[in-house]
Amino acid sequence: MDEYQVEPMAEGLARDTQAKYVCSQCWGGLYLELVEGTHYPNRSYRALCIKCGAATKGYTTQHYANKARERSAAELAEVRSAYHGLFEKRQTRAEIMHDLGF
Ligand SMILES: [Zn+2]
Repeated sequence: MDEYQVEPMAEGLARDTQAKYVCSQCWGGLYLELVEGTHYPNRSYRALCIKCGAATKGYTTQHYANKARERSAAELAEVRSAYHGLFEKRQTRAEIMHDLGF
């Protein structure tokens, strides 16, 4: 049984994939692994995630990943703004007791 989840590709397509796509699971960058037993001019490569390696399941465009990251950052900024002071405020036990009226 093949341990890889992604199919090998011709060199040109593999280089294109590496340049335009990232891992669909973690959005990590891709590296090319030469498929054993393939030789020039018909070498084949697997585009694998630098973090997931052989467990790479598929790809998504860098454009999509960048847009999604921007959206997440905007949402985080919105939440931080909405809850400003809530997370930063650290009270001592005495301050908490005082606020509670003791
Ligand atoms: Zn990955």
